[in-house]
Amino acid sequence: MTFLENPTAQISVIEMKTKKGSIDIMKLKIANIFYSIQGEGKFIGTPSIFVRFFDCNLSCSFCDDLDHKKGYTEYSFEELLETISKYPSSHLIITGGEPTIYELNPFIEFLKGHRYFVAVETNGFRFENVSKADWITYSPKNWDEIKNDGFSEVKFVVSKTSKIQKILNFQTDKQIYIQPQNNMDTTDMENMKFCIEFVQDNPHLKLSPQLHKLLEIE
Ligand code: SF4
Repeated sequence: MTFLENPTAQISVIEMKTKKGSIDIMKLKIANIFYSIQGEGKFIGTPSIFVRFFDCNLSCSFCDDLDHKKGYTEYSFEELLETISKYPSSHLIITGGEPTIYELNPFIEFLKGHRYFVAVETNGFRFENVSKADWITYSPKNWDEIKNDGFSEVKFVVSKTSKIQKILNFQTDKQIYIQPQNNMDTTDMENMKFCIEFVQDNPHLKLSPQLHKLLEIE
């Protein structure tokens, strides 16, 4: 598993314009918004609104989402609320890219104030930027520096060549999910088979199959 740091992205890019000393405009840089089924982790199967933020602090070789690099549309909180209000679910997933490159707690509190359950998917760059979320899924990319707190569940993306002993050495009281390293839009059945055997041999782990790819939905 390889990864590259992208230090140029490690900046807060929410733009805040102040007026009389108070924040009155916060623009969110959004790559896309869509409605689908959560295919991973504890909430697998849950109809969910996905809000994908622009950009990431890493450039993983196996990244299955390139939309986050292509560009963004700016939304105010109210504009985003209006966009998502057409969907019937109140389960909202903030994803990326890497959402914690932004200070998102004000946005998360705004959504919770409108009765959304807010889950975040992160590589753990800055947990403090999403600490108000209802649920945080941590997917560590550098397995030599796995963090021990700040998350609700942890998900490892695993291929048949992964150094899985590092997962077995990792201690946490949170549920650990094993997710096959899949193709961009489809399931890699060799990695899936490897992951199934891995969790069968280590039943404290659970399989996170990326259900949406098996179902061939977004
Ligand atoms: S979005 Fe996730 S998988 Fe893709 S480059 Fe960023 S951390 Fe890596």
